[in-house]
Amino acid sequence: MFQLRRFWQLWQFIPATQIQKSFGARHTGWSIGSPTTSRGPIDIRCFRECALPSEAPAEGEPFDAIVEDFERILLPGITHWNHPGFFAYFAITGSAAGVLAEMLSAALNVQAMLWRTSPSATELEHVTLSWLRTLIGLPDTFEGVIYDTASMSTLHALAAARERYAPAVRTRGLAGRDDLPRMRIYCSDQTHSSIDKAVITLGLGQESLRKIESDEEFRMKPDALVRAIASDRAAGWLPVAVVATVGTTSSTSVDPVKAIGALCRTEGIWLHVDAAYAGVAAMVPGYEWVLDGAADADSIVVNPHKWLFTPFDLSAFYTRHMNLVRAAFALTPEYLRTVEAAPVKNLMDTGIQLGRRFRALKLWMVMRHFGANGLRARLAEHMRLARVFAEQVDASPDFERLAPTPFSVVCFRARPRGVSERDLDALNERLLESVNQTGEMFISHARLGGRYTLRLAIGNLRTTEAHVMRAWQLLEDRAAQLTNVQ
Ligand code: PLP
Repeated sequence: MFQLRRFWQLWQFIPATQIQKSFGARHTGWSIGSPTTSRGPIDIRCFRECALPSEAPAEGEPFDAIVEDFERILLPGITHWNHPGFFAYFAITGSAAGVLAEMLSAALNVQAMLWRTSPSATELEHVTLSWLRTLIGLPDTFEGVIYDTASMSTLHALAAARERYAPAVRTRGLAGRDDLPRMRIYCSDQTHSSIDKAVITLGLGQESLRKIESDEEFRMKPDALVRAIASDRAAGWLPVAVVATVGTTSSTSVDPVKAIGALCRTEGIWLHVDAAYAGVAAMVPGYEWVLDGAADADSIVVNPHKWLFTPFDLSAFYTRHMNLVRAAFALTPEYLRTVEAAPVKNLMDTGIQLGRRFRALKLWMVMRHFGANGLRARLAEHMRLARVFAEQVDASPDFERLAPTPFSVVCFRARPRGVSERDLDALNERLLESVNQTGEMFISHARLGGRYTLRLAIGNLRTTEAHVMRAWQLLEDRAAQLTNVQ
């Protein structure tokens, strides 16, 4: 424990620039598609065959040699998500408090499948999820469980919905059943691909997923949803669930959850809210609207590993019907039977997997370290920085914003005078590669309204206004260069 405290003290003293230096300032790694690092393009075959032996060593090796290889071979191929210039996807932070929690949890090798296999892990999961639920304004009728990712949370939500409408599916399956109409799930055309994967995994098939058109600000159109449900019912489909998104992946738009929820209640359909990214913003004063209507949903997912400074991975899943999750998944063979009775919970009952990491520890440490006000202040600062960047875009005659900026992500593109609409996608694609090659910043893209869109996402604790302004300067410079050579 003494060493951990020492590690903590050291971490507090290391300035961001030092972390950048020791972990490499360049971060356009091969692992995310752009095969460039500080050493230039990596020949992946050589990386595998020359640098990494094809067989495990017969005898153990000294730890120094292993660490040296880690630094020499592996680190140059690591994409630095913890870098203040990381603006891609949803930028995140694995904060020191969370890193220390991960070390403790690994050192103790906690496995929380049953209450008795680590009572503290089960109980702390309950406590931290209650804290988070209160912070984002959800009522205590929601019971929570921690999964690894939002993909798994949504999978469990839709499994519970399927359980409600096809109770015998657990024993009888879906195939060859003429007592069961084909089930339909609804989401918008902006929804994350994890919904597709969930319906694939649940055996519903991608044809069961109906994507509802979104409006000019990329929010699901409730009237289009009404029409889709009516026409499906008329055609013999069984509407089972709607997935509304709070903070879509491409543009961070917010679906009208309240209106969608009212419709779901009238129609008797499960409402799942995917608030993986933006749900945490509801704890910031003035942003309570973010989860308007979510209290009436059947389930909701919020990801502390996205925008709550918790090292990957930790997804918080809440539902008012955990009994249905248990009905879908609880299964106790003799060798896992224990004598503890309710209210003791065995986490293995609330999901597919048996073994469970002690993820609650990192969320607990993060929340205790920053405090509710500290978390709120940092989220608010990220949103301020996004507005600062958006103002630069709006003020520039050569750039334009392609979506509203409700949170910490700015969607935009270069649109230099004299470049035709036809050439803008290619220009912006080159611009993305060009700024990423500098090694100073890293952004990603999306497609909005058919247009290639650059996304600058802010979510790192060490990102300052200087980093954001530097990113803007690089974008302006590189866009000018690219336009001149055209
Ligand atoms: N939902 C939304 C809105 C997302 O943006 C993402 C990922 O970015 C996911 C779900 C999937 O997240 P995870 O990686 O936790 O499965």
